[in-house]
Amino acid sequence: MKIARFSHNDTIRYGILDGTDLVVLAGDPMFAGFDTSGERVPLSDAALLAPVIPRSKVVCVGRNYRDHAAELGNDVPKQPLLFFKPNTSVIGPGDSIVRPPQTQDTQWEGELAVVIGRIAKNVKAEDALDYVFGYTIANDVTARDLQKPDGQWARAKGFDTFCPLGPAIETDFDYTKGEVITRLNGEVKQQAPFSDMIFDIPFLLEYASAAFTLLPGDVLLTGTPAGVGPFQAGDTVEVEIPGLGVLRNTARDALTA
Ligand code: MG
Repeated sequence: MKIARFSHNDTIRYGILDGTDLVVLAGDPMFAGFDTSGERVPLSDAALLAPVIPRSKVVCVGRNYRDHAAELGNDVPKQPLLFFKPNTSVIGPGDSIVRPPQTQDTQWEGELAVVIGRIAKNVKAEDALDYVFGYTIANDVTARDLQKPDGQWARAKGFDTFCPLGPAIETDFDYTKGEVITRLNGEVKQQAPFSDMIFDIPFLLEYASAAFTLLPGDVLLTGTPAGVGPFQAGDTVEVEIPGLGVLRNTARDALTA
């Protein structure tokens, strides 16, 4: 089942994707379940939004694919390298990625995103998937030229618009058989199976939840494979995960005074 968050007639609601329609839900399915309102809205009349606004945090994993660590000259970490993106960096499908004036090198990172559905603290890997609400697609946009000089990654990873999410949350998805494909203006730049991850999702949830409580609506980005690179204003970045859809965003430069 694919859950979308959408705007229609100036109202934000949730719906289940059903062909060319959205079956409108009575409330936020993470808290209110899947009761429907009895309405249907044609997809063509709705604007899809980020399917979730992370309630407290986006937890990210750096260097979780061997080839990507190598392409930037880094060793593979011995344990997961965690960082955060603020929830203010989240945008939805079709929204513009804004390139701020502080960077000359914005890059894409196509990633599988895990949406947390239950309060998770000290979960064990074997139970971890019980805490997952569903899966969606993320672009971990990065100001590569700020990442090393800053030392900490908060700014390079955390600018407004640097976390496109969507287009919907799939509640039934076997990520172990999945792959991610990233295209720049239609040309494939990244393609790798999730089986290439160094640390798998259950282990990442155990590791992260041992450090901090994960709340319903928090999101875990699972790392990007090799093939990252720069995009410019006017470029369109598409991240596709078969079974989850395509997350498409076009970049523009920030308006300057
Ligand atoms: Mg990343």
